Amino acid sequence: MELTNVKTIREIERKFNFGFSKGLGQNFLLDSAVLEKIVDAAQIKDGVLEIGAGFGVLTKKLSEQAKKVVSVEIDKRLIPVLEYTLESCDNVKIIEGDFLKMDANALIKDEFGGKKISIAANLPYYITTPIITSIIEAKLPVKNIVVMVQKEVAERIVAETGTKEYGAISVLCNFYTKPRIVERVPASSFYPAPKVDSAVLCMEVLDAPAVSVKDEKLFFKVVKSAFLHRRKTLSNCLASGFGIEKSALSAMLSELGINPAVRGERLGLSEFAKIADKIGELF
Ligand code: SAM
Repeated sequence: MELTNVKTIREIERKFNFGFSKGLGQNFLLDSAVLEKIVDAAQIKDGVLEIGAGFGVLTKKLSEQAKKVVSVEIDKRLIPVLEYTLESCDNVKIIEGDFLKMDANALIKDEFGGKKISIAANLPYYITTPIITSIIEAKLPVKNIVVMVQKEVAERIVAETGTKEYGAISVLCNFYTKPRIVERVPASSFYPAPKVDSAVLCMEVLDAPAVSVKDEKLFFKVVKSAFLHRRKTLSNCLASGFGIEKSALSAMLSELGINPAVRGERLGLSEFAKIADKIGELF
């Protein structure tokens, strides 16, 4: 069964009387060359966790490489469809549920014995950032994360310091991983075609965070506060984020050699780390 063929997709649609849900971000991938790129980038040896199986086009491709594929799919209407499309793949397990409500650490432990796995997905657009943030912050035993996301999200994640795309998600991803864009994918590669273009993003998880900080939670609070109001200066953002007197905060930043009047997008990981460690001394 050729799941990259629109005719096949339409036949399945008819057979199961399936209606695509825009709300669940159901845009299924039709490009077999892009599927190859995702699988190659993930360099799967053992296990792989997929988020959102759809009709199973990526699941099937992953199952050709992996020892075991576990795919979480929220839409229960897709379960009988997947039983049909993945009938011949006996190393695939579909779990019905909302990935964001699951304990992913427990799931990986149960399904893969806690071994390091890959995460691969064509993510639903409406929850791309929460999913990436939750995967990264949960510190899952994962060696890489290869995901199709909206092109602009991929560009934000790989953005250089000082550019307008650079934000909290760039800092978070570069703290734990080495991200790169593998391929840009036009909207026409999906069925139904979404309104936006996409990109395949590969994030290699680092053995240790890119910079060392005393308290990672505090580090992320600093980063999120710094980018909360993009037009405000760093000292204004941090003063309101942490309830610290602005003059004291400005003095602290100056002491660290950081101009209190700059905006968050000018700071690299090591500067955020210095600020977080210093603020940590106050609490
Ligand atoms: N993997 C398929 C492909 O590449 O064609 C489908 C990708 S489609 C962009 C996203 C899939 O994620 C849909 O099947 C949708 O039902 C599912 N999904 C949406 N929200 C989800 C969630 N919170 N947890 C798990 N799956 C979800």
